Amino acid sequence: MKRIAIIGGGISGLSAAFYLERLRQEGVPLDYVLYESSTRFGGSMFSEHVDGCVVEAGPDSFLTEKPWAQTLARDVGLEDQLIGSNDPQRKTYILVNGKLVVIPDGLMFMVPTKLLPTVFTPLFSWSTKLRMAAEWLHPPRRAKEDETVAALVKRHYGPEMVDRLADPLLSGVYGGEAATLSVRAVLPRFADMEAKHGSLGRAMLAARKKLHPLVRQAKPLPLFTSMKTGMQQMVDGVLARVNRSALRTSSPVRELNFRDGMWQVASNGATESYDAITVAIPAPAASSLLRAAQPDLANELGAITYSSSVTVTLGYGKDVLGALPPGFGFLVPRTEGKRMLACTFVHTKFPHRAPPDRALLRVFLGGSRDEEILSVSDDKIIELVRAELRQILGVSAEPRFSRVYKWKGAMAQYSVGHLERLDRIERLRRTLPGLTLAGNAYRGIGVPDCILSGKKAAEEIAGPSPRITEVIPASSDPVAPQQVR
Ligand SMILES: Cc1cc2nc3c(=O)[nH]c(=O)nc-3n(C[C@H](O)[C@H](O)[C@H](O)COP(=O)(O)OP(=O)(O)OC[C@H]3O[C@@H](n4cnc5c(N)ncnc54)[C@H](O)[C@@H]3O)c2cc1C
Repeated sequence: MKRIAIIGGGISGLSAAFYLERLRQEGVPLDYVLYESSTRFGGSMFSEHVDGCVVEAGPDSFLTEKPWAQTLARDVGLEDQLIGSNDPQRKTYILVNGKLVVIPDGLMFMVPTKLLPTVFTPLFSWSTKLRMAAEWLHPPRRAKEDETVAALVKRHYGPEMVDRLADPLLSGVYGGEAATLSVRAVLPRFADMEAKHGSLGRAMLAARKKLHPLVRQAKPLPLFTSMKTGMQQMVDGVLARVNRSALRTSSPVRELNFRDGMWQVASNGATESYDAITVAIPAPAASSLLRAAQPDLANELGAITYSSSVTVTLGYGKDVLGALPPGFGFLVPRTEGKRMLACTFVHTKFPHRAPPDRALLRVFLGGSRDEEILSVSDDKIIELVRAELRQILGVSAEPRFSRVYKWKGAMAQYSVGHLERLDRIERLRRTLPGLTLAGNAYRGIGVPDCILSGKKAAEEIAGPSPRITEVIPASSDPVAPQQVR
C-alpha cells in the first residue's frame, strides 16, 4: 500500500486528494492524508451567503476555455450546478481621465480585430490608433529569449496600450505588472504569433480563418463558468467525495525530510512516514519545507515571488442598481491614481447571485505595487473604496452590507525566465523520488490550472492509469484568455 501525504488543502491539494481517492476506489493500493494548516479547506476559494447574495472571497469563476474545473465539478457530481456568465451583457470599461470608457468591440486582449470600433473608440489617442494600423506590417521577432509583457505590447502598440489595457488586465488576473510578468509564461500564444507572423493582428485573423466553419459559426460558450451557489460548492463537492478520515485541518506541516527513500512529515508534534508527497502550497512556503531535502530546489522555489490581494464586496439596494452603467464592471489603470484595481458588477456578471433589486459590487485592491493595503484596517479600506466609487460611479449610498477579505501572498508572479525556472525545478524535483508539486506557482494561476496540477500530481504518484490520463485539448480560440473581473 503506497502512503501519500498531500500538503495544502486549497483547490490544488483538494484536486490531488479527489483524484487519488478515485484511484483508491478503483482498487489502486494507496492511502493518503491531506494536511491543511488553517481551520478550513479551500484556501483562497471561499464563498459566503450574506443578505440574499453570494459573496465570493476569492475566485468568483473560471475560464470556460480551460476544461479542468468543469471536469472536476462533473466528477464530483455537480454538473447541474455549473453556470455560465451572462455574456450578452458583457461589457467592460476602463477608467480614462476619471471617466469610464468601454473596451471597443473586437479588441482581443489588446489586438484589434475590427476596424470601425477601433477607429472611433475614445480609449486610445490617435497616435496609438496609427500604431495599431502600422502593426499590420510588424516583422516577425527572431530573438528567442523571454521578455516582459510590457516590452512586447510596447513594441507593437506603444506605451499607451501598456498603461490602459495590458497592465490593468494583468493586475486583474495576476495582481502583477506588465513591466515584470513574463510574456512566455503569461501570454505564450502572443509570443508564438509574433515569431511566426510578426503582426499580432494578422496572426489573430489567420488563426480565426483556420478554424473549422462550424466552430466559427457556433454560438460561443460563456467566457466564464462558475457554481450556482458559489465556488465553495466545488470545495464542498470534493470534500463530500474524499475519505473524511484522511482530512486534517489545523495541521500545518512544519518539517519535511527525505530519508532512506521515505518522506518524513512533521505536523502537530508528530512525524509520519510516507512513500510519496504532493506539496500543494505557495512556492515560498514549499521552499522552506523542502530546504532540508534539496537546497537547490528550495532556492528555485523561493525565487518565485507572490503578490497579495484584497477583495471588498458591497451590497446595495435598488437606487444604486439603476445608477450603474450596463456591463460586467471596470478596470483602473495605475496612471489614474486610484487604489482600486478593478470592480465587478456581480449582479450583471452572475445575476442570480443577488436578488433582482440589488447591486452587488466586488472591488479588487492590492497587487504587487500596493502590498501596504494589507496593513490598512477593514473599516478604512471600506471608506477608501466607497470614496473612489463615489468619484468613479457617483455612488454615495450607504451599502446594506460590506465584506473585506485579505489574501496575503496569494498570487504567484511569473517573472521573466519563469519557464526556464520551471525546467530547473522539474529537473531538481526528479532527484527526489515520490515528490510532486502542485499549485498556482507553476503553469497557471487560475482555478482550472490549479486543478490540473493536482490531478497530474495524483496521476504521477499513482502511476499511469488509462482511466484518468487524458489528452489535454489545444485551445480552439486563438486569443489569449482575457479574464476581466
Ligand atoms: C482574490 C483572488 C481572486 C481570484 N480570482 C480568480 C478567478 O476569478 N478565477 C480564477 O480562475 N482564479 C482566481 N484566483 C486564483 C486562484 O483562486 C488561485 O490561484 C487558486 O485558488 C490557488 O489554489 P491553491 O490550492 O494552489 O493555493 P491556495 O488556495 O493558496 O491553498 C494553499 C493551502 O495550503 C495551506 N498551507 C500553506 N502552508 C501550509 C503548510 N505548511 N501545511 C499545511 N497547509 C499549508 C494554506 O492554508 C492554503 O489553504 C483568485 C485568487 C485570489 C486570491
